[in-house]
Amino acid sequence: MSEETNSMQLAVIGAGPGGYAAAFLAADLGLKVALIGGEENPGGVCLYCGCIPSKALLHVANVIAEARQAAHWGIGFSAPLIDVEKLRSWKNDVVRKLTGGLGLLTRQRSVRYIRGRVSFLDGRTLRIERHDGGEEHLTFEKAILATGSRASKLPGVSLQSPRLLDSTAALELSAIPKAMLVVGGGYIGLELGTIYASLGTKVSVVEMTAGLLPGVDRDLVSVLSKRIEGLFHSVMLNAKVVGIKEENGGLRVRFDGDELKDAEQIYESVLVAVGRKPNSDISGLKNTRVELDSHGFVIVDAQRRTADPDIFAIGDVAGEPMLAHKATHEGRMAAEVIAGRKVAFEPRAIPAVVFTDPEVAWCGLTEDRAKEEGRRVKIVRFPWGASGRAATLDRQDGMTKLVLDLENGQVLGAAAVGPGAGELIAEGVLAVEMGALASDVMLSIHPHPTLSETFMEAAAAFFGQSTHIYRLKKD
Ligand code: NAD
Repeated sequence: MSEETNSMQLAVIGAGPGGYAAAFLAADLGLKVALIGGEENPGGVCLYCGCIPSKALLHVANVIAEARQAAHWGIGFSAPLIDVEKLRSWKNDVVRKLTGGLGLLTRQRSVRYIRGRVSFLDGRTLRIERHDGGEEHLTFEKAILATGSRASKLPGVSLQSPRLLDSTAALELSAIPKAMLVVGGGYIGLELGTIYASLGTKVSVVEMTAGLLPGVDRDLVSVLSKRIEGLFHSVMLNAKVVGIKEENGGLRVRFDGDELKDAEQIYESVLVAVGRKPNSDISGLKNTRVELDSHGFVIVDAQRRTADPDIFAIGDVAGEPMLAHKATHEGRMAAEVIAGRKVAFEPRAIPAVVFTDPEVAWCGLTEDRAKEEGRRVKIVRFPWGASGRAATLDRQDGMTKLVLDLENGQVLGAAAVGPGAGELIAEGVLAVEMGALASDVMLSIHPHPTLSETFMEAAAAFFGQSTHIYRLKKD
């Protein structure tokens, strides 16, 4: 096998939203860049088997839910006819279009995209086994690790079965099972559970903590929980899976939990969504000076520089929260550092969105965290029951909340639950990042009738002056 040696100013390892964003900006800043990924085009887990296909299918779930709700408005539709093959091929087309577009952007920027697997020979040299069968050595001045994360396995379960799914397998949509157990009531479990429940599967969720979406403010989660109770077959809290056995026609699952009705149940398939682990087991990494923490995350400083000064790490492999937009931001920041700019990763607000129905979104300081830290804050809420736009959507169950500095009304955190909350939270991010005051948000004219007004009205509630909420003076 012939081996070539190439040299690059920057080698970005991993081509997800963190890696490709870093590579693109570095090229825009004039560097000679190689981007190494496992698929035909850049995109990573987010585009190929995560954010994008799940959001395409969640759009479908929302359409089905709206069509059902339309009966309430005097519009009747018959039960949806689901052509799974067509649905799968539409979802795959969305992925193909976006990843193909990234391939084009890579070529336009003269970033060299290499499909293959890397191992570090030393702190300046990679060996790449290319997908085309070739092998090469690549020397770099700087490298960025952007290798992402993978689904965690269920502890104590070694079963290999096509009925036991992780999020990637679930998004392939190879079949719509009659009954599915989702293990883990976090982001992935609830989003994928929503998709399958909308397509007709009887979905049960088992969550080991006392509530869905642990770590998220309970007033937000309770709005989602109410709707999930109507959509899912059952939600089992404070419960764990302790064993799974394959039987004719299904998986027999044994549970452990005090509040359970049945200690065993049979499901056609089981989706495991109990968290993700960093992909830091990169071949030859021990030949560099890069260090890992006890959870396997690469240790980085505020510029995302590892213990090896020529190697940076960004995205899921460099720590929580494991979110694509955080990876993108870190990746672009690291590219700037490498190009010689004095910048650091210091966001005040990283938004998080759970794309369920309703969506749950938050950023900056949360109410729970403010309480834990004994911060002097005022929490203001605007219930969507008082929003005209929510009424026209027949979705008045939502809520918008601001966490404000008690003294001066500075916006420290924002949250919303309701349809479209994921889009709305961007205003909260801007407010927190800009150090906006409640008065800034209140005095910015928001378009009527929109859900965005709920931010303006929540800000006005800080002064006890929200138009659509009446409070007695003593409140
Ligand atoms: P998660 O941490 O959000 O949720 C995992 C859930 O599983 C938790 O509620 C946990 O208590 C529960 N759990 C753990 N072990 C269990 C067990 N043995 N039995 C029952 N329950 C158990 O993780 P996830 O949903 O797998 O998602 C992984 C990461 O991917 C998240 O951290 C998130 O950052 C990211 N993600 C983001 C989005 C989004 O932004 N919309 C969507 C999907 C995933």
